[in-house]
Amino acid sequence: MENKTEKPLDFIRQIVADDLKTGKHLKPVTRFPPEPNGFLHIGHAKSICLNFGIGVENNANCHMRFDDTNPSKEEQAYVDSILTDVKWLGFGWGDNLFYASDYFDQLYDYAIQLINQGDAYVCDLTPDQIREYRGTLTDPGKESPNRNRSVGENLDLFERMKNGEFEEGACCLRAKIDMNSPNLNMRDPVIYRILKAHHHRTGDKWCIYPMYDYTHCISDSIEGITHSLCTLEFEDHRPLYDWVLDTLKTPCHPRQIEFARLNLTYTVMSKRKLLQLVKENYVEGWDDPRMLTISGLRRRGYTPASIRDFCAEIGIGKRESWIDMGVLENCVRNDLNPIAPRMMCVLDPVKVIIDNYPEDKVEEVTAKNHPQDPEQGTRTLPFSREIYIEREDFMEDPPKKFFRLGPGREVRLRYGYYITCDSYIKDEATGQITEIHCTYDPESKGGSSPDGRKVKGTIHWVSAKHATPMTVKLYDRLFSSENPDADKEVDFKEHLNPNSILILENCMGEPALADLEPGKQVQFERQGYFCPDSVESTKDKLVYNRIVTLRDSWEKVKDNE
Ligand code: ATP
Ligand code: MG
Repeated sequence: MENKTEKPLDFIRQIVADDLKTGKHLKPVTRFPPEPNGFLHIGHAKSICLNFGIGVENNANCHMRFDDTNPSKEEQAYVDSILTDVKWLGFGWGDNLFYASDYFDQLYDYAIQLINQGDAYVCDLTPDQIREYRGTLTDPGKESPNRNRSVGENLDLFERMKNGEFEEGACCLRAKIDMNSPNLNMRDPVIYRILKAHHHRTGDKWCIYPMYDYTHCISDSIEGITHSLCTLEFEDHRPLYDWVLDTLKTPCHPRQIEFARLNLTYTVMSKRKLLQLVKENYVEGWDDPRMLTISGLRRRGYTPASIRDFCAEIGIGKRESWIDMGVLENCVRNDLNPIAPRMMCVLDPVKVIIDNYPEDKVEEVTAKNHPQDPEQGTRTLPFSREIYIEREDFMEDPPKKFFRLGPGREVRLRYGYYITCDSYIKDEATGQITEIHCTYDPESKGGSSPDGRKVKGTIHWVSAKHATPMTVKLYDRLFSSENPDADKEVDFKEHLNPNSILILENCMGEPALADLEPGKQVQFERQGYFCPDSVESTKDKLVYNRIVTLRDSWEKVKDNE
């Protein structure tokens, strides 16, 4: 989990390092504060790697905190999935698992303090009126008629709000700051609202709930957070963050620092939109392997290391930018290439009959599990008279540069023999090749011939009677537009890629593919990286996911590596 690339510290890690050097803090304390209203996505991974990363690098704590102040959208199932995802990414929080809802009593007491200080008041304006009174960037705000209520009246009304005497929206508690502030967030923001909703942790104890801006800074302060890291859209909220803590004179006043959120091409990142895709069945669920959620990436076959590498590579900056999806795909390739065992699977099989090979004979050929890593050892593959090869590795009338199979052409079977095509059978109705007849050179076992003749092409194959039938799902990007959100007039779902999944039902894999554990990543030679789907794959029906294609095609790989 170390920083592999010796990059200079990003600006946030630099601030942390400086604060340790000057003795401002002995240890940093960071936190990751998701709202449990959806599954985590790749954007959250950036924040997780930053916050937990600073913890790991400084042998310090990073708190896991649920920002669960909106019971109408939050669920225990989301809490569970978030905890699973953070752990899976390789991070831990020790005893430091917190919920903003744990602080509801303290938050209430702080609100009483604000009222007593004359810094908060109960306002009877409707939500629409509050919006209207707030003004705009060019128009100053207008004061609420309730702004100068007495402390006694405010205490009484707030108590009655808590006791459920008012309907939702009838009134709210607002901080009394400045209706003329150029910063709209400072124009008497709402800090408590009435919400008669069941909370997944506090049940029906509360019918008033604190707002995010009010809750977040106080939660940070209660936990002794030193650096409160958030995305740039909260920059304009920082004055409010500081106002609340300054006004309450809390003993701890964390420093909020903003960084640019991750924007990734060919996807949408907002939980609200991801939820739409799930609810409206555009995808199979939050963990659909095409979703850029952590659970989707996990099911697809991404490794935690590849996601951490991605986050390290994109870095932390202050300016909004876009990262190409290809960067993420490269990270998983780079992670899997040195470790994933190589196996053979024919995705679109056509049968080859080796006419001069004895009918009942089966022999074993030796295959390397990883050509560049001898430590991974070898395995044996059964070879017999009938094999499958990839349909696209045969051409009836191949051009000169086609180094695979065609009438009269000779090709090397990976780890097997040289075979030469003598004839083929074609179904005239469909135009499909149904059988290819070949002869093999018994002297060429293992892939070279004693006479040293050159055979340029090498193709993969599986023995027909030993093959493992399986379904393979080839995934492509979920959206066909770089930024599905770009045009506000067009719904992002219009940009869904109709070909984001291609299901191949008749694939034939080498025998060992029947026994891989769910999620285990392998390379199908020449095809890409794959793993058995952890949800759908069973002993009776094997289903493999393509994680990512290979960067280079087989043709470029040397013959006898
Ligand atoms: P969304 O906009 O997807 O609904 P959110 O910001 O509402 O996300 P939270 O659960 O509040 O989701 O996010 C938890 C933390 O993750 C926050 O600190 C937030 O800033 C951070 N985060 C969310 N999206 C991104 C992103 N795209 N890049 C970096 N950090 C992100
Ligand atoms: Mg949020």
